[in-house]
Amino acid sequence: MPTPSTCPCGGPSLATCCGPYLSADAVPQTPEALMRSRYTAYKQQNEAYLRATWHPSTVPDGPIIDPNERLQWLGLEVKSALRLRQRKAELPESQDADTVEFVARYKINGRAHRLHEVSRFVREQAGGVARWFYLDGSFPDK
Ligand SMILES: [Zn+2]
Repeated sequence: MPTPSTCPCGGPSLATCCGPYLSADAVPQTPEALMRSRYTAYKQQNEAYLRATWHPSTVPDGPIIDPNERLQWLGLEVKSALRLRQRKAELPESQDADTVEFVARYKINGRAHRLHEVSRFVREQAGGVARWFYLDGSFPDK
């Protein structure tokens, strides 16, 4: 039996984690699932998926992935949901907006970098289903 490969986002396997989202067989039901699948899409250089899951109001006009940039994604760590819930307790409740905090590590031309981002997501009706979209991110370390 072939060994199931782990998902690039760190999930148990691509087939049971981000795979169904990337092949459009399923829609991520939570912002974290969408965030993980977008990380996997970056790793697989799936520009179309990144564009489709980026909110139309903030999606870049130009290319999202620069094929000439020798960028290598090394790993993803999603920060504790509890901390986010505590932070959100101070904000008005919304079912259709959420944030996910994560640290992604990557290398460009052999140099290691660390991306610490709090991403904002919004949920909107699209094509008859409620979908989460990436809106933008802020960078707590900067
Ligand atoms: Zn995954």
